[in-house]
This record gives sequence, C-alpha cells and structure tokens, in this order.
Amino acid sequence: MKKTVIGAVILILWASGSANSSSKWNVLLITIDTLRADRLSCYGFSSVQTANIDRLAGRGTVFSRAFAHTPTTLPSHANILLGTTPLYHGVHENSNFVVRGELWTLAEHLKREGYSTAAFVGAYPLDSRFGLDQGFDVYDDDYGSQSARGASFFVERKAEAVVAKAIAWLAEYRRSSPWFLWVHCFDPHEPYNPPPPFSETFKNKPYDGEVAYVDHALGKLLVELEARDLLSRTIVILTGDHGESLGEHGEATHAYFAYNATLWVPLIICIPGVRSNSVDQYVSHIDLFPTLCDALGIKPPAGLPGLSLLPAMKGRKLRHRPIYFESLYPYYSRGWAPIRGVILDMKKYIDSPLPELYDLVKDFGENHNLADKERLDDYRKTLEAVMRAHSTPAASASRRAPDRETIQKLRSLGYVSGLEEPKESFNREDDVKILLPYHNRSMEARDLYREGNKERAKTILKAIIQDRKDIDVAYMNLATLYKEEGKMVEAIQVLKEGLTSLPTNYPIFSTYVNFLVASGQFNEVIAAISNASFRQMEYDPEIWNFLGIARASKGETKEALAAFEKSLAIDDKFSSSYVNRGMLFLAQFLESRDPSLAARAEEDFRRTIALDPGSAAAFNGQGVVCRLNGDFDQAVSHFLRAIELKPGYGDAVYNLGMAYFDKKDYARALRAFEDYRKKFGASLSQADRRKLDELIQECRRRL
Ligand SMILES: [Zn+2]
Repeated sequence: MKKTVIGAVILILWASGSANSSSKWNVLLITIDTLRADRLSCYGFSSVQTANIDRLAGRGTVFSRAFAHTPTTLPSHANILLGTTPLYHGVHENSNFVVRGELWTLAEHLKREGYSTAAFVGAYPLDSRFGLDQGFDVYDDDYGSQSARGASFFVERKAEAVVAKAIAWLAEYRRSSPWFLWVHCFDPHEPYNPPPPFSETFKNKPYDGEVAYVDHALGKLLVELEARDLLSRTIVILTGDHGESLGEHGEATHAYFAYNATLWVPLIICIPGVRSNSVDQYVSHIDLFPTLCDALGIKPPAGLPGLSLLPAMKGRKLRHRPIYFESLYPYYSRGWAPIRGVILDMKKYIDSPLPELYDLVKDFGENHNLADKERLDDYRKTLEAVMRAHSTPAASASRRAPDRETIQKLRSLGYVSGLEEPKESFNREDDVKILLPYHNRSMEARDLYREGNKERAKTILKAIIQDRKDIDVAYMNLATLYKEEGKMVEAIQVLKEGLTSLPTNYPIFSTYVNFLVASGQFNEVIAAISNASFRQMEYDPEIWNFLGIARASKGETKEALAAFEKSLAIDDKFSSSYVNRGMLFLAQFLESRDPSLAARAEEDFRRTIALDPGSAAAFNGQGVVCRLNGDFDQAVSHFLRAIELKPGYGDAVYNLGMAYFDKKDYARALRAFEDYRKKFGASLSQADRRKLDELIQECRRRL
C-alpha cells in the first residue's frame, strides 16, 4: 500500500515536472537595431510611449545597466548569438568580416536540443553571407531585390514586414518540437523615416518616431503570442544591438566612439515562472547565451565567458568581472586608432592614444574624464589580461576583403569601407576624438552643397585638406562636388592629391579611375591600373571593367576582352562587364562577319538584361543584333525600350531610324533621323552628317 502511494507520488511529480519542463520552452529573441535604452518608457523615458515593450517589461526583468561590447550591427549580433566577444570570434565590424563556419551559434546549440529555428532579419549587415545564419532552419534575409533601374538597392525592410513574416512562420508551425525565433528590427538605424502616423507625431524627433513605430510593429507579434497562449511557454529576450549617439560627444550616429550613448542597451528577459523585477547589476550581451542554457536546463557549450543572469533575476549577486568592449570600425575601415576598454567596478576605462576614465555612478553620460586624475595602470593591466585570456589565433581568420556589392550596400547605410592594412602604431593625431570632427565637417560640407551652398562647401573641404592631409572623405566629397559641376579636371586633380597623401586608400583610387574613364582619359586609366597593387583589386569587378573600357576604346581588343573576363571571373553577376563585352563582340563581328561573334554578343546582352532590366545599352545592343539578323520588328522594339530607359540616347535613336528604314516605314524613319540630327547633328563629323542627310533625303523621296 505504502509502496503504491510512493509510486503514485513519484509519477505525479514526474508528470508535473514534464508539463512544466523548461526544456519545452520556446525562445524568442528580439533585437532592435540602434536602440537607446533611454528611449523606452519602461526605462523612464516620457516622450515615447512604448506600450508593447513595456508590457513585456511588466512580465519580466528589466536590466537597467546592460552593455553591448561593440557599437556596430554584425559584431554585436555575433556577440549575442555566439556568447563571445570579438576577441574570440574575430568579427570586429560590418564590412571586412564574416562569422566563420566552425564557430558554434546559439541556433546550432538549440537545434541540437531538438528546436526548430528561424530568423527574420531587417537589414543587409545581417545578410546570410556574413555567416550568422548557422543553425537556422529558416534564415529570412529577403529585404527586396535590386531595383528595376539597377540604380539603388533595397538594403532594409520595415519592422512590420519582418514581424509579418515571423508571425506567418509561427502560424505555419505545427511541429511538436519547441522553437527558437529571432526577430531583428532595423528601423531606428538612420535614415530616420518612420511611416505615418509616427512621421507626423514625431515630426521633429524622427529617431523617436522610429522607436515608437517598432514598438507598434512588435505589438502585433505579442498579440499573436498571447492569442496562441504561447507567452507562458516562451522565454523572451529583447535587447538592442547598440545605441545611437544623436550628437552626444560630437558623434551623430554610432560605430565610431564607445561611449554609453552607443554601448548602453536595453535588456528585458522574461522567463516563465521567474517573478518580474529589475536588476541594476552590470551585465552584457555575452551573458545571454549562458542565461538561456541555464533557464532551459541545458548544458552550455564549454568555455563561454559570460555569466548566467538567472541568479541576478532571483535577487542574487553576480560574480565580479570586467566587461570588455571595443570600437574598431574606425581602425579597420578608416585607419584610425583602435578603441578598446573595460568596464570594471562601475568605472569605464577607454584605451586610445588619448585615454579616458569615467565614474559611471556619478557620470554615466561620460562628461568628466578622470584619466589625468587617477592611475590607469591597473585598468590597462585588466584590459591586457582580458585580451590575453579571450583572444584566439583563429579569430584573425574571420577577416575577409569585402566585395563590390557589400561595399555599395553598406555605403548606402552610411558605412565607409576602405583601407588596405591598418597601421601598427598610433599617436594622438590618430585618435578618433581628434579625427571625427574633421569627418563630420566633411559630411556637413556635402550637405551644404546639396542645399545649394556650393562655394561655402568647397571652402570648408579645401580648408580641411589644407589642415590635415589624411581625411579621405574630404578629398572624395570635394572631387564629387567638382564632378557634379562638370569640372572634371579639378575633380581628378583633387583625387590625385588624395592619392599622394593616402596612397593605400582604395576608395580614392577607384573613384579616381572612375573619373578618368568618365573624362575619356584612357591612357591614364591603363597607366593607373597597371601601376597599382591594391589587394582590393582582386575582389573588385568594376576596376577591371574600367580597364576593359579603356583598352577597347584604344582598339586593344584582346586586352579589353581579358579585362572584361577578369571582371566577370570575380563577379559573374556584374552586368556592366557583360554589356561592354557584348559591344566588343559586336564590333568584332562587324569586322569579321563571323556569326559566332554575333551570337556571343547576343548572349551577353541577354544576360545583362536578365541581371539589370534597366540597361539601355543592352537593349540597344540587342536591337543591333536583331537588325543584323533581319528581325526588324524585334529590333524596333528593343531600340524603343532603350530610348524609354534613357531618353536622348543618341545611338539608339539613330539605330531606331535605321530599323524603320529597313522595315520600309519611311515616315517613322524620317522622324527618328530628324530627331537625331536636331540633337546630335552639331557634334557629328562632316562625313557622318552628310551620310545622315542622305538618309533623310532618301526617306523623303520614298515617302
Ligand atoms: Zn546595428
């Protein structure tokens, strides 16, 4: 009898343990890009009411002092999803690094525990090409495709679009296994353009408007979870990847400095059964991985440096430890001095040529540098010890040269990517605090120019170059302003000076070559590329396309072909090289009449149009091939399309006239030739003009 009772009790305990077993809990990770903790109403901010995030805060624990280790998107998410800092995983900024396949991610860890995994990310810095997709069954980084004109990229999508995809995944979810869902909302990242009604409500504070909008979008996800009664079975973590300076310390956005404006992030953790409260102990992103393992009752991977925050959530004190941070985008992409540091005993030490020390209890805004008043040796030693303990030789293998597409897309988000090899030693002149004001002034000058204040803009940029010879954006912006004014000689001269001062700066070099091509200086293009030895050239299809154009223009067909082929070997989706190679084949065909060359030209134009439906040159080329094949109707439609894409496209207008002439549609042919003569007659050679006039006469005669 007794035995039976005990057996029953054990059975009941086992059953109830099973029903509430933490290993069955789902995990929802929400990361909001560029989110300052002090913009959430649950952090005491009053201008924005973030009712939905507050609702989560009401269910869980609000960490009032949580820190990111890095102020840029890719490394920060790597810190969260790998549970290590860049010292270990080696990803220091957005453009020059990937998360290596051999690293073990939270998604892989949960997948091994039987979880279904899905990620919905909002912007290009988290594209699967950077390696954070490891372990996800679904990694949705579809923020749109290249636009029809091929001119601009879609590099982000709105929070509502991300959330809608996540909700659809949840709705489709019919498996018995638990799930891990990561939702990333990019909206508070610049440019700040919240949709209505937030654009109206926050007219003068668009950043706050983006925060309010994300809260609104997340509300739909929370409602969905509540409706399915999932919140009581789901661990929810909400954090920001980094903050936004909004002008503090002279930094407009993020990625340069490592002040709390960008390292302090919101952190809310909801664990079923853990009472809601708030924690003011110092915690960081690498603590999230071990916290989840602890809460789920699963073994964490060996060697994770973070701490489980579960004890803190239950009111206990966490072990004393330094929190490492760094800001190395300026170092890797601009060649400026590195910023690294530690937060220790409520003090923050920032190691740079001009070191800083702040008392975070009295001065969380970091306005009173104590570096001159206190001994820094102990902090330096702590930083060195942390770096020694957590660095791995393998970390350097995360470095990759970015390709053209990456550079272009990241540039559209405001990241300048350059520099071959960072310097080894630095002095105060290399300190980010000294250099950033020059960068800011260069960007202000560009804005002044766009507002029509051209002379003032040029004066500022010239003064910067006079003062410091190493501000790359000053040269680039001044050259671009000259180019927009049609002053190519001055533009090229500025870039030449820039290259003299900064001979390893690839963005200046490639812009210089671009401008030489645009002004028809083909000998100089060939000389510049032949004498250059940038490592980036091996990853840049555009530079070889420029060389091909220069060689082709000089009649060096074989060399031109080799250059286009090199460009396409680097990037087989680089449409400009297809269209230029097609033109080259076409020219060769007209000389040799070898039909295989016409076929190859046709193939190149077809590929170009498939990659870039807005390429007028490719439609013009297609039209020429059709005309040569006697398919005049098709030729006409290609030329019309080319002109539609590029109004005033002389070659296509002339070719259209010829195709109508072939079709014996002399009225339309006449109209095209007359149009062509009106627009381009003055620039034609005497012989060409005579030929055109004869065609016009012939049309009139036959009408
Ligand atoms: Zn970010």
